[in-house]
Amino acid sequence: MVGAGPSGCATSLLLARAGIEVTLVEAEPRLSSPFRGEALMPSGFEALERLGLPCLPAAVPQRKLKGWRVLVEGHLLLEEPEPIGPGPACTLVGQEELLATLLEQASESPCFKRRQGVRVTGLRRQGSRIGGVTLADGDSLAADLVVACDGRASMLRRQAELPLRLAPPQHEVLWFLLAAEAVVEIRDWLGGTFLTVLGAGNGFALFETAANHNLRLGWLCRPGDDLDLTPGEWLERLAQTCESPLSTWLRQLPTSALQGPLRVPIQVGLAKRWHQDGFLLLGDGAHPLSPVRAQGLNMALRDAIVAAEELVPALRQGGEAKLVAALPEIERRRQPELRRIQALQAAESSSGELLRSQGWLRQVLAAQPTLFRPLITQIWLSRQRQLRQGLPLGSRPGVP
Ligand SMILES: Cc1cc2nc3c(=O)[nH]c(=O)nc-3n(C[C@H](O)[C@H](O)[C@H](O)COP(=O)(O)OP(=O)(O)OC[C@H]3O[C@@H](n4cnc5c(N)ncnc54)[C@H](O)[C@@H]3O)c2cc1C
Repeated sequence: MVGAGPSGCATSLLLARAGIEVTLVEAEPRLSSPFRGEALMPSGFEALERLGLPCLPAAVPQRKLKGWRVLVEGHLLLEEPEPIGPGPACTLVGQEELLATLLEQASESPCFKRRQGVRVTGLRRQGSRIGGVTLADGDSLAADLVVACDGRASMLRRQAELPLRLAPPQHEVLWFLLAAEAVVEIRDWLGGTFLTVLGAGNGFALFETAANHNLRLGWLCRPGDDLDLTPGEWLERLAQTCESPLSTWLRQLPTSALQGPLRVPIQVGLAKRWHQDGFLLLGDGAHPLSPVRAQGLNMALRDAIVAAEELVPALRQGGEAKLVAALPEIERRRQPELRRIQALQAAESSSGELLRSQGWLRQVLAAQPTLFRPLITQIWLSRQRQLRQGLPLGSRPGVP
């Protein structure tokens, strides 16, 4: 298993628990990463339940979202409390602690080994078959199956020659962090909601993180936007986007309160094929997602459920034929949900871009927010509900 993100940790846990020998190799010395999300949707909770975590352990920082708000030119266009559909409320979780919990449970199995802080440098081949990996410390590991959970820029995907079918370019996001001690008024005003702000041709999202009371801010941008600003210029640009109490507080913030930006290049796509002989792609490596409405963590966990259901019987029974049959089955079961999620995210991104770029539309909506609210809310809710629930995961016949 290469990569200790959500897909690698969850798949390792399920395989090791079922008595399959697993070695998890992670390049970074720690489990935390600024490039990893923290919003759990009902689809993610469903996966966690099937992982044996019906409730989030207390050791995992967690904060239920109170609701969603959209401000257009400073006017409240939409406000919906969580949960907006069946299942639990969208919950922000501490990513590092969640992964640590999965690995603690995996470590209870004598079948689980972990190599943390060692980079996988390449694939070992036995003829046309992939038979293991080489490591940066000079070591190498033989394996019946290499599962590449190495994230959106997957080096192993390239080495295994599994190209992505790329989606048209969408929004990129610049991530900022606002320091807890400087944003008390903004945090109180947010009241635990996820806020989307559109105004003056720009847009951003703002929410409180799971732990530390910091605020995370995602600035929507397109290739070619002027992003080379000082912290002071950023605060002014943010303030200009929202004519509301928020703009006053943003202008009063010391520039030291704004950390970032962290640019995450967003290449959205779906691998045309997820497997080779002896090799499987999972998580962002197989389907790099847009950050819109926080799906990646949830989809990665759901990949793990399906992968383990197919891999455990194949690996237990041994024999290459079983494994050869299991790999395309995993891809077949996961593709429809991923295609659908990517289509919904693209639609959400287009709506955001329309509102961001069309000043006349924002002015019309802002002039009569109460008139448009019911229709906008209905359209928004229908898309959000599909995004948060996912498609039925199903189960392999004979697997509970
Ligand atoms: C800023 C940001 C915010 C996000 N917010 C959300 C959110 O709120 N909710 C949500 O659901 N999703 C969110 N996402 C998406 C989510 O984080 C990812 O979709 C999810 O983490 C994918 O999990 P993964 O296990 O496939 O890959 P990753 O989490 O990317 O993990 C890959 C791991 O592989 C390791 N690795 C890479 N190469 C090697 C190598 N050669 N050898 C060994 N190890 C290697 C990396 O160090 C990393 O730990 C966000 C993404 C970003 C960038």
